[in-house]
Amino acid sequence: MAGLRWLVGAGVFVSFLAVNGLCGAEGLKTIEVWKNLFTVVNGDGVDSNTTFLITKKGVIVVDTRVTPGEAKKVMAEIRKHTDLPILYTINTHYHGDHTFGNQVFEGSGAIIAHENVLKSLVGASGQEHLDFFKTMNIPGMEETVITLPNMLFKDQMEIFVGGYHLKLIHARGHTDGDLFIYIEDLKTLITGDLVFNGKIPYMGDAYIEDWLSAMNKLGDLDAEIYIPGHGAPGGKPVFIAMKHYLLNLKGMVLKQLEEGKSLKETQDAVRPVLMEKYKGWKNLDWLDANIQRAYLEYSIKQGT
Ligand SMILES: [Zn+2]
Repeated sequence: MAGLRWLVGAGVFVSFLAVNGLCGAEGLKTIEVWKNLFTVVNGDGVDSNTTFLITKKGVIVVDTRVTPGEAKKVMAEIRKHTDLPILYTINTHYHGDHTFGNQVFEGSGAIIAHENVLKSLVGASGQEHLDFFKTMNIPGMEETVITLPNMLFKDQMEIFVGGYHLKLIHARGHTDGDLFIYIEDLKTLITGDLVFNGKIPYMGDAYIEDWLSAMNKLGDLDAEIYIPGHGAPGGKPVFIAMKHYLLNLKGMVLKQLEEGKSLKETQDAVRPVLMEKYKGWKNLDWLDANIQRAYLEYSIKQGT
């Protein structure tokens, strides 16, 4: 699947920019999710979310946006609420729109991620990812210096700090190095890109069957608030909508495969159905790439 990654990914990211990339029209907005828990949505470049939790001892930051410039805006938002130090920075996965602002938080106690995030960002593969983002004409992208996570885990880790308890749980799906964060006391899940709200998800290097397993893991946890990687935080319907999208995509593509249809025939059959069902969502031009990703994954699984 590694070779497939950029083949599919490149086209999708380019079309993504055509729709959402450089508009930034809505401007950065900070939403108070619970007391002391904030999510920064929108902003310039790419619309990935950053969440920060203010504990008694300091601040925990989840994802760092697409450029140092955007990360500095997040820091300014944090400083509106507290002067306490940044204790931990967490990357939910390696994608540049969640990690390329890391250098702004380098002075924090640690940058934490799943071990596969380091593999994707270190050396040539990280440089390739950054070079790719540099082709997108995102303002301030040239200032990015890849800043690696320096505290890694494999399956799960827990942070107890300043009156809060965070569980970081690895679940492959959107990439091979996703983590989500569960704050049981707040009945809150910070999902990274395992959940997009009101947007067709990016699947350039996804594992759809694993993604569905990850959704089951998320669904097993008692939560009322879901903070997605893209789009506004919301309640259980945000989570359910994402799960249904994945199930719809899988089910429809599998049916076409069973009938021996080609990729193009599958896209032509599935696209209009999903287009109609999800017409209120953004990034509809990612549908073909998503169908392709599902087609390739499930044809390999079927051995066809
Ligand atoms: Zn992502």
